[in-house]
Amino acid sequence: MTNKYNYFVANWKMFGNIKSINSTNKVIKISKLRKFRKAKIIYCPPYTLISDFVKKLRKTKIEVGAQNCHHSNLFGPFTGCINAKMIKNLGCNYVIIGHSENRKSGDTDLIINKKIKSSLSSKLNIFFCIGETFKEKNEKRTKLILSKQIKKGLDKIKITKKIIIAYEPVWSIGTGLIPNKRELSENILFIKKLLKKNFNINHQRVLYGGSVTSKNVRELSQIKHIDGFLVGGASLNPNKFIDIIKKTFN
Ligand code: PEP
Repeated sequence: MTNKYNYFVANWKMFGNIKSINSTNKVIKISKLRKFRKAKIIYCPPYTLISDFVKKLRKTKIEVGAQNCHHSNLFGPFTGCINAKMIKNLGCNYVIIGHSENRKSGDTDLIINKKIKSSLSSKLNIFFCIGETFKEKNEKRTKLILSKQIKKGLDKIKITKKIIIAYEPVWSIGTGLIPNKRELSENILFIKKLLKKNFNINHQRVLYGGSVTSKNVRELSQIKHIDGFLVGGASLNPNKFIDIIKKTFN
């Protein structure tokens, strides 16, 4: 882990109802402890719960994000969609873009690039997800894929502190599988070097996501270039999510 803020992003995907907001109570409590002052906790609930999360977390240091947005920042005839401006207007400071579940359902690098641009113009911080599939990994194409996703996703974008990369191997999401320490450290470092070379960015933050649990987080947090975790399944359970935070700092 790096010595800056450590991000803990809770991606709730399509889970949760109004009662589930109470599961943040315990997380709010620990977020106040001095020991965890460097923990930056961000909840990304489904759209339907964003307003309630914003209200609930208003007086805490925990922030709220959305899981996706439309690529246009204008109002328009896009049934079922929400844009970055609307998300900002709800009180969110973050948005996840390029999650592999959305890439699978049609988000191309070009669409992702547009979404990042419109999120930046709405002053949102972005968790920009990238990652290789199992097939690509086996074909030893990981670095090629990561490099393509970064270059196309960030094309003509002046990369800023508002863009936080989330390296999420597709084969690791929801499977219980995680990369070994050597390959993970190598890939994170590769991403950081690429950002420095192509975008002249030093100290870019890169998170890891994919089956992070309280059981593997100690091992993962020993990788010194990782700046935090994007947590799916385990973030739905407050005890598991808290354990992940605690074990990162212990
Ligand atoms: C995710 O949804 O981005 C994710 C990492 O999920 P999980 O932790 O369940 O693998």
